[in-house]
Amino acid sequence: MVAARDPETMRIVYQRVLNKLVCRKCGALNPPGAKKCRRCKSKNLRPKRAMIGMKKG
Ligand SMILES: [Zn+2]
Repeated sequence: MVAARDPETMRIVYQRVLNKLVCRKCGALNPPGAKKCRRCKSKNLRPKRAMIGMKKG
């Protein structure tokens, strides 16, 4: 993990890392804005998101 405390840096890091689409079918990462999975051509894509500043429990 990168120990970046600067919120601005964290934001940029998250945007760069998480700005992707994950295929629900095969799990491949696709570039942002992709309409279809580049591996299996499925349209079942979901945005890759992390819960920023949210912890369970
Ligand atoms: Zn796929």
